[in-house]
Parts: sequence; structure tokens; C-alpha cells
Amino acid sequence: MSESVASKESREAAIAQGSAGRVMLEILIHGPLSRVELAERLGLSGPSLTRITKSLLADGRLFEGEPRLRATGRPPQPLELDASAEHFAGVKLTADTVYSVVTDLRGTARAEHEETLAGHAPALVADAIARSVRSLAGSFASVDGVGISLGGNSADGLVVTESHFLEWTDVPLARLVHDRLAVPVVVANDVTALTQAQHWFGGGRGLDSLAVVTIGAGIGMGLVADGRLIIGAHGALGSIGHQPLLPSEAVCWRGHHGCASALLTTGAVEQAALRASGRALSYGEVLHDAEQGDPSLRAVVDEAGAALGALLAGVTNLIDPQKIVLAGEGARLGEVAEPAMSAAFADTVAWRTVSAPIDVQPFAFNEWARGAAAMAIRARMLR
Ligand SMILES: [Zn+2]
Repeated sequence: MSESVASKESREAAIAQGSAGRVMLEILIHGPLSRVELAERLGLSGPSLTRITKSLLADGRLFEGEPRLRATGRPPQPLELDASAEHFAGVKLTADTVYSVVTDLRGTARAEHEETLAGHAPALVADAIARSVRSLAGSFASVDGVGISLGGNSADGLVVTESHFLEWTDVPLARLVHDRLAVPVVVANDVTALTQAQHWFGGGRGLDSLAVVTIGAGIGMGLVADGRLIIGAHGALGSIGHQPLLPSEAVCWRGHHGCASALLTTGAVEQAALRASGRALSYGEVLHDAEQGDPSLRAVVDEAGAALGALLAGVTNLIDPQKIVLAGEGARLGEVAEPAMSAAFADTVAWRTVSAPIDVQPFAFNEWARGAAAMAIRARMLR
């Protein structure tokens, strides 16, 4: 075989593999689709599509669903995805713990694991991640990819360019973990990863534009525009943690008065409650007692709610999304302080007549790890 024929064949094989991922992704996002619908959506000819679906049907990744009822003509037979055909590990790193899940192709968590992190040296963290994934992978035939998310940035999905809480600069975390597990590994900012999961499997499913704002130990934002996850030129899109929001006495560690970190993190709300009431309360207790009518805690929660309204109005003014999903451990603030949040939102938003619905998500901590798994699924579909 001549070299040019060999390279043409390998190029065609690569295109076919990429198209197979796109076929699976269309069904993942939009549900069962007929061959005609798939060919239209992907701009493929009928014969090309049939070739791709034939091999996906043969290896069990797709199966033929029940034909849809139609008044006339032959009913189209939709192709469905076998979600259990592949499994992915999602890993969320915090300062002291590795939280892991294994999900199927639809991001449904099938098993979970927690592992204490003894330190922040990159090799030690990679060892802990590998142990964690191995302990989960035992229950499945294999894990087909690993996604790792953390409070930090990665522009290429391989190297953590910056992570404040781990004190890392330019750590090749994907390679370190790949060396230990020999499966594809991708690294992402944790809010970016959560946004991907919300767009494919959560409250933002099927939307062309979506902002996910998270409140917790930090404040962050993720963005979907034109139907695609956007991460920015340096993987740092949505770094809104020190955005100035309200005139306030509260100050963050960088010395800003009234920024998002000074007013909105769970720690900032606990500090404000301590100053106002003299009581050391958890974030959940502050929200609960404010709901029960404690006046000093109601004032604390309303100031945080007003800060949240100003933040969400700023997001709306900048990107005009179809929906804002409010997530993270502190998201319930959006319900408890809804009047203060809405008043501040109305005061700051430019378009008073058209603003996106704000969807407050009930939040479980394993959603961070599910987000990381969504990034592994994304890498598998788009490779
Ligand atoms: Zn600040």
C-alpha cells in the first residue's frame, strides 16, 4: 500500500471516529433520533450516516428504539444510546479530600468514593486520584475516561495553569494521572465542569445559552453560548469572585469592600452572622434562623441576597442568557433572600422587560464530581 493511500485511509478513519462521537452526542443531548434526523442535524449523507450507525449498532453503543406512530407512511425508527455501554470517573479535588463518582454515559452516578488528601504535592495528589478511581472501577468492566475538576484554571484540559488553594502553577495533572491509570484524562475548572453537566444532564438541557452561577466556598460562573461550553482564552472565564457588588463594611482577604467574596461566600455569610448576632452559626443555621424571623440574621441574609441580585443582574447585562442556574452549596440563598435578591436585580439590570428565569437548584456535593465526569464524557464524544 502506498503511503498516500495509507494516510488517506487513516484520515478517513479519524473522520469516521469523530462522526461517531457526534452521532452519540446528538442522541445524548436531544434524546432518540431517526437516521434522517441525525443526517440532517450533522450535515452527513445518508450512506455516510448508515455506515457510522451500523458500526455503533454492531458494538452495542446504539440500539433501535420503538418506532414512532405516524398517520401515514413507514414510521421512522429512532436510534437510542445505551448509556451503560461506557463508564466515566469524575473527580472533584478540594484542599483535603478527593471526591469521586463513576457515571454512565448520561452522567448518572453509579458509585461514589471519598479519599482523604494528605498533602498537595502533585505526585501525591495523582496517587490519591488513581487509588480512588481504581477502587470505583472495580465494580465495572472498565472506566473509559477520567475527568478531574478543581478550583483553578486549565486552558488545554491537561495542565492546571493556576490553582490558588493547592498553590499550584503549571502542573501537568492529566499526564500524571494518565501515567498511573492509562486511560484518557481531562482536567477542568470545577464551575466549568458543573456547567457542562447542567447543559447536558441538568436544568439547562438543550438550551443554546446558559449561565451557571455557583455560591459556596468561592463564587464562580460558567457559560454556554451558541450551544457550546465556553472557557475563555486562558480557561479563566467566569472568575467573578472579586466583582464589586455593593457598598459595604464587609471586606475580603484582598482588601475589597463589598466584593462577591466579601459578601456572598458561605464563609462571608457566617462571619457577617457572627458580627451581627455574636453567635457562631453554620451557613445552614444562618439561613434557617433568618427564615424563622430572627431580625439580625434576616438583615445579614438580605444583604447577601442583595449582593446576589446585583451579581446576577451583571451576568444578565453582559451575556443575556436564556436561563441562569444558581448552584453550589450556598444556592439556597436565592430562595431564602428572594425579595432582596429580586429588588437588587431589578435595580441593576439593563433590560427590565426581558430577563432570564433564575433556576435555584437543590444541590448535593457529589454534583461537583458528576460535573468532572461530564468533562470526561465530553472529551470522549469530541475526540
Ligand atoms: Zn475581593
